Amino acid sequence: MCRHLAYLGPPVTLASLVLEPEHSLFEQSWAPADMRGGGTVNADGFGLGWFPEGDTAVYGGPVRYRRSVPIWTDENLPGLAASIRSGAVIAAVRNGTVGMPYGQAAVAPFMVGNWLFSHNGRIAGWPESTQKLAERLPVADLLQLDAPVDSALLWALIADRLSDGIPPADAVAAVVQEVESVAPGSRLNVLLTDGEQLVATSWTHSLTVHRTPDSVTVSSEPFGPGTWTPVPDHSLLVATATTLHITPMEGPE
Ligand code: GLN
Repeated sequence: MCRHLAYLGPPVTLASLVLEPEHSLFEQSWAPADMRGGGTVNADGFGLGWFPEGDTAVYGGPVRYRRSVPIWTDENLPGLAASIRSGAVIAAVRNGTVGMPYGQAAVAPFMVGNWLFSHNGRIAGWPESTQKLAERLPVADLLQLDAPVDSALLWALIADRLSDGIPPADAVAAVVQEVESVAPGSRLNVLLTDGEQLVATSWTHSLTVHRTPDSVTVSSEPFGPGTWTPVPDHSLLVATATTLHITPMEGPE
């Protein structure tokens, strides 16, 4: 299954988050340590999403760089990542679930308005299992899914609640529970940020968190120096750069 990370804190280079650390996301693309039976490498594309440092009037909202190729084949990435700094980042390397389409549009992070989103896992019984949930979405949202992939539908379900003004943590928790109820046995680790707040779930996949006094990093696998704390399975994590709350979610039997 894919590997992903989110960072909130003082601006850092994308390279220092994604490429340079020991067992970085870059390395996790070909040598992940904790895939829990969900594949072996994460070579079906990669994506970086970040909120630009500085004057948001120059470029409002997040910026994204996605490719369908393995992250290690992109010869432009090291230079780009070393020269871009951000204080709010989501990055992912993809191992496409069997039966899901391949291509840049299927790679996280997904983005709508001021939100960046990533999903690590799979919806069981896709696509039939989610039909009833999908039917509740505006047709225009379904027509505009990035790709016919479970992660994009999961994002559309959450984004629909956000557009109704539901707080992000409530939107994520409700959709994860709803999907689990129609598609038991799903793996639903998600990351969502608007650049200020981070909402994440651990739902049958690995997730770990690293804190400093002014930053929070959440990742599928620990990387770099410092202490990482595993997030218990079936948890909801809500953080800012300086706050962190982890609460249990009601899980399957
Ligand atoms: N199911 C999603 C996809 O196919 C996520 C895959 C993953 O976590 N490995 O892209």
